[in-house]
Amino acid sequence: MTYALSNPVKHLHGVGPRRAAVLEERGIATVSDLLGYLPFRYEDRIRFTPIAELTPGEVYTVLAEVASGGGTVRYARARFTRGGPIFHVALRDASGMLYARFFHGAYLQGKLKEGQRLVLHGKVEADAYRPGRREMVNPDIELVGSGDQPTADSTEVGRIVPVYEAIGEISSRMLRRIIYSALQNFDGDVSDPLPDEIRRRYGFPTRREALIYTHFPPKEERLELLNSFRSPAQARLIFDEFFYYQLALALRRNREPQQRGIAMKVRDDKVREALKRILPFKPTAAQKRVLAEIAADLERPIPMHRLLEGDVGSGKTIVALEAATIAIENGYQVALMAPTEILAAQHYLSARRIFKAAGYAVELIVGGRKGAVRDDALARVASGEVKLAVGTHALLEGFVKFHKLGLAIVDEQHRFGVLQRKRLIEKGASPHVLVMTATPIPRTLALTLYGDLDISTIDEMPPGRTPIETRWTAETQLAGVWEFVSREIARGRQTYVLYPVIEESKQELKAATAEYERLSKIVFPKLRVGLLHGRLKNEEKESVMERFRGGEIDILVATTVIEVGVDVPNATVMVIEHAERFGLAQLHQLRGRIGRGKEKSYCILVAPKSITGEGRERIETMVATSNGFEIAERDLKLRGPGEFFGTRQHGDAAFSAAQPLRDRELLEAARREAFALAENPRQAADIVKRLEAASPMWQKRYQLASVG
Ligand code: ADP
Ligand code: MG
Repeated sequence: MTYALSNPVKHLHGVGPRRAAVLEERGIATVSDLLGYLPFRYEDRIRFTPIAELTPGEVYTVLAEVASGGGTVRYARARFTRGGPIFHVALRDASGMLYARFFHGAYLQGKLKEGQRLVLHGKVEADAYRPGRREMVNPDIELVGSGDQPTADSTEVGRIVPVYEAIGEISSRMLRRIIYSALQNFDGDVSDPLPDEIRRRYGFPTRREALIYTHFPPKEERLELLNSFRSPAQARLIFDEFFYYQLALALRRNREPQQRGIAMKVRDDKVREALKRILPFKPTAAQKRVLAEIAADLERPIPMHRLLEGDVGSGKTIVALEAATIAIENGYQVALMAPTEILAAQHYLSARRIFKAAGYAVELIVGGRKGAVRDDALARVASGEVKLAVGTHALLEGFVKFHKLGLAIVDEQHRFGVLQRKRLIEKGASPHVLVMTATPIPRTLALTLYGDLDISTIDEMPPGRTPIETRWTAETQLAGVWEFVSREIARGRQTYVLYPVIEESKQELKAATAEYERLSKIVFPKLRVGLLHGRLKNEEKESVMERFRGGEIDILVATTVIEVGVDVPNATVMVIEHAERFGLAQLHQLRGRIGRGKEKSYCILVAPKSITGEGRERIETMVATSNGFEIAERDLKLRGPGEFFGTRQHGDAAFSAAQPLRDRELLEAARREAFALAENPRQAADIVKRLEAASPMWQKRYQLASVG
């Protein structure tokens, strides 16, 4: 039988209901979606390198079979590997022997039996203890059946082989077979919504050609070109993703001028007076500039869509409250949404303090509040008495109604989905929108992901900060760290001690709770130690934070619940245990909790000195720089944008093949073309309609783009 693009994947050869469900979870429902799932790497399996020709230090693909005896699991000495199982296997081809080691490889025991053929891809190393012996450590492997000879339609050998990221239990190899068979039986009807004229100008193949080529490139294609995603076929598919996304953004932008917004008075004595009254300090030049940009937006009768970005601690909050002041003085209400209850509570407290002189009523709307207290708060918001409603996503609930919402502010944007932002906006009649992010975003990416947002950047820190000194310390040196902490506390400072998990887990991680017990009873019996983690009740969390802020707690043992926004200038030391387990952006956010006052601050990253790979890079980056933009760029390179923005796990990633950072030029070209095309709205809308018909995945992306 033949398949059309719109056929569900479950009809494909090799896909049963169970695999179909796994695929669907990843957003792959139709043949079209499946073909949109592209290889992330290619291997040259036309000719394998004979083992005898391997040079240490280089990466190779080798075809070998398990030598006599098969592989064995051995437990390494605990000192180096935490005692984990390591699978050792000897392999051979006609030319010689190769050894491979797999950490946590116990699962390979039954699989790699004598005589099993496999393809290995990885770096070859010289064995330090046995001269002349070559080995691969944790190579990518793929078992190859004995029938897999280099025949015309083998998907495993004798060709350039696509390597896919496994989807759940569906391995790269299974995906390859499923996709290969889909392409073999494919009716070939791929609609190509990209205007021909654009396609020819860039020398792109048709979408159909591009898909076939990208999944199973011909033998003569250059491997480097494929692996750098620069073949015309890949470029075409990447361009597509950017182009349609940008087109949706452009169409939306064109619609916008017709949308009436609220023109607020800004150059007005009453407003000026109010702004002066609330300011607790002299704003920095950067704060003044971004406020002017925001004020200019508020003045226009078009809804503002502005992203305010600035590194942790750069002082975004006061700018937001100034914007709120303008709206309030114009007779409107303001909503401020934060990602966590702690942060919402903190904004609430500081807004109350700052707005006291101005007499604006501030209310807190969070999930934890119930009964009469909540009803009363909701009534005051609905009547318009409350001028600023601060809250979590609880603000999005249907029962939260505003009298006259004129400005919606969303803090720490990357934690909220775009759809949530939309729901907040709908609480008013085209209110102005200000989105704040503490994760500075390189400009290209900001353009891609928030393509229709204008951007204001605070690129200057408030005065009087001393740079944070960051050190990498081994676990064995902890005693010295605690001594340092006591000295700082004796000088009147406070300390954070952070852990990655809250309960003792199998992976030998010290749990925050266990460590809290130890620190409070044994290490610092005379000091006041507090504990904060996500499983505490809201009131408990707030009370612990309040006591820490008030100086009643010297050492706060916490998990990442404190990651965003918490502001306690007297806390000058942060000890992060198991630092290698945290992401880079997360470490930066955490570190941003200190260095907020005049005193010198210290961030101590505790991690074994022997760590390698990404964990090491993250820690080295942290020690080397505290510039949020540099860290963001680095993090993007390490993790890719999906995870970086926390979008991938929510299933609303904007792109699958495209990587905005790597594919910057294609992005810019696509943006140019899309915005030019949108000048002809009828043609543009027609293209979008055809795309939406083609795939639910695309549809989701446009929806994203159109929410912006
Ligand atoms: P973030 O941008 O991370 O949200 P905050 O708004 O929490 O940063 O500001 C960090 C700290 O700096 C707060 O304690 C705030 O009061 C202080 N701050 C902000 N702007 C200034 C300024 N212009 N002068 C002095 N202190 C400031
Ligand atoms: Mg903040």
